[in-house]
Order: sequence, then C-alpha cells, then structure tokens
Amino acid sequence: MGTVAAYGLRKSFGEVQALDGVTLEVPDGAFFVVLGPSGAGKTTTLRAIAGLERLDAGTVHLDGRDATGDTPAARDLAMVFQSYALYPRKTVFENIASPLRARGASADAIASAVAKVSDLLHIERLLARKPAQLSGGEMQRVALARALVRNPRAFLMDEPLTNLDLKLRVEMRTELTRIHRSLGGTFVYVTNDQVEALSMADQVAVLREGAVQQVGTPTEVYDRPANQWVAGFVGSPRISLLACRAEGDRLVGEEGWTLPRPRWTTAEDGRPLLLGLRAEDVSVEARGAAALAGELYGLEPLGDRTVVDVKVGKEMLKVKARPAVTGTLGERLSVSVDLDRAHLFDAATGLTLS
Ligand code: ATP
Repeated sequence: MGTVAAYGLRKSFGEVQALDGVTLEVPDGAFFVVLGPSGAGKTTTLRAIAGLERLDAGTVHLDGRDATGDTPAARDLAMVFQSYALYPRKTVFENIASPLRARGASADAIASAVAKVSDLLHIERLLARKPAQLSGGEMQRVALARALVRNPRAFLMDEPLTNLDLKLRVEMRTELTRIHRSLGGTFVYVTNDQVEALSMADQVAVLREGAVQQVGTPTEVYDRPANQWVAGFVGSPRISLLACRAEGDRLVGEEGWTLPRPRWTTAEDGRPLLLGLRAEDVSVEARGAAALAGELYGLEPLGDRTVVDVKVGKEMLKVKARPAVTGTLGERLSVSVDLDRAHLFDAATGLTLS
C-alpha cells in the first residue's frame, strides 16, 4: 500500500495564507502531479505531507491511517528536492547508499540495491565520482537514485527537473515515467510546468493561492477545466476568452460578433459570459456558419505550426495554423470556430457552465 491523503491543510506564514484548506487523495501507485504557479503552495503541501511543516489545521493520512503526528522518519516517505542536496564529500555510491546505511542494511544488500538503481538510471559509470565531478543532469539522477534505492511508502518530488536544460528535462520526463512504471510506487510530484504535468501525470491537482481548483486526469483538466482560471493556466498557447452573452439561439459578443449558441449550453439569456476557445479549436481556413471576423495582428512560426493572433474588436484570439500560413498584418480574416469544443464561463464567478 502507498496511499497518501491530505485533508483540509491550512498553513499561514505571518500574513501569507500559504495553504487554505488543501485536500488531496493520491491512490496507491499513482503518478500524481500537483501543478500550480509560483507561490501557489505546492512546496508547502509537499512538506506538510512529509512532516516538515507544522500545520495550522488539517490531517495527513498514509495508507489510510492518520499520520499527522508522526515524525518525518516514521512516515517512511522519500523526498527529492530541486536542489539535489547531495553530500559533497561522499562518492556517488555512498550518496546513494546513505538511506540504506542509516537503516543498518548489510554491505551485500547495499551493494545489490545500489547496483539495481544505478542500472535503472544509467549511472553505473559515475559511482566512484564525487558530486563536484557531475553535470547537473547527472546530479539529478543521483538524487533520484538515492530516493529510489529504498522502498518507501511513497516518493515526494519537488520540481526535480527545474535545474536541467530543456533537452535533458524532456528526456528525464520520459525517464521518470519509465521508472514509475517499472517500480510501481506512488509518486507525488510538484511542478509549475503544465507540459511536464500533462505529459507525466495519471492525475493532476491544480493549485492556486493555497486552494485546489480541480483534480482530474490530464485530459479532464485540459478538456473540461473546472473554471476559467484552470482553462487559462493549462494549455499553450493560452485559451482565448471573448466576452459575450446568450440571446435566444445566438451568442452575442461584446465586440459585435454573433455565433450560433452552442447546443450544449444551459446559460440563461443576458448573463455575462466568457467564450473560451483553444487555439486548436479555431481555424483561419473559414468553414461553415460559425465564424468570427477579425484582423491579422501577428504570426508566430513555431516550426511544426504557426500561431496566428487575430484581433476581434479589442479582444485577441489565438489560432493554431499550418506552418506555411502567411498573411499581411492588418488584413481582414474570417476565423471558423468549433463550437462543440468551445468553453463557456460565467464572467462573474469564472466557473465553467455546461
Ligand atoms: P514555487 O513554485 O515558487 O516553489 P510554491 O507553489 O511551491 O511556489 P510555496 O513555496 O508552498 O509555493 O509557498 C506558498 C506561499 O507561502 C508563498 O507566498 C511563499 O512566499 C510563502 N512561504 C512559503 N514558505 C515560507 C516561509 N518559510 N516563510 C514565509 N513565507 C513562506
């Protein structure tokens, strides 16, 4: 068993309410990602689970048992920090072996456990070196190996890939999901990088200002965001939001456009709404009746695609287009909209309307 749960975590630092009632339930064996912007309370949540933070309120349950009063050691969790925290004077072998030595494991057991984890992380050839002789990516692997060498109840990882360059970070994402699959443990992984979260997680909890906004699979969080804020935080380019209201069978934009009212919406007439359109659900190759008129404001070629900025009145719409798309700034464009994939938010509360 390796379930981790937190109920109603509250923690303030002076004036700052870092956690404002965080509740999470991580199933056994999950790759669970806590995603949120800087300052959202991700590290504080992880430290609270690890027993490193004194809480104002709330409980932490491990394997279904209340562990709120347990010491960090008694919780049997392995933590990986973004700073690596390796012992500089010890060799890589001794760094990895240290959690096992602390538990009094035999020399044979240590040698075989270190060999196994070094093989998993492809760091066998580094075992005799000291941390100063390693690159950032190698240090990261050693820090991971040290966490993985024993068999804790769960692994807690705080932005472990932050200090790596982009190429290594992408490689390590694949590596970590592979390791998770082959070890089968419970991972609680904190990041502010939504691509990292969506690509690795079984489940994502989206955190903002110390409060969980939504928990779901990456697809749920992306396709059915709970509110406008989640829709904006997850996805690149950012979802475009156009102010409008429903009137009969039409959606009427504040900038003067109209579109057929999506069949699925129950929003009552006249209520201020925001129409959320993801860049891949709109097209500059106009088709059908659902179209918006605008003008070409900018082109951002990204190799495999080009993001086209279209100005609709005073509002901006981002459109994913083929890489070869061209145009003259200021030219008039018609943008077709896939209304079945559009989102509607209550403009006052930000909540998703269906
Ligand atoms: P980041 O992605 O930047 O690491 P985070 O989501 O992990 O951010 P936390 O580190 O949990 O956020 O911090 C949440 C809030 O609590 C922030 O406003 C932070 O400044 C504050 N905070 C965290 N630790 C302390 C502390 N020891 N003393 C005072 N304020 C703190």
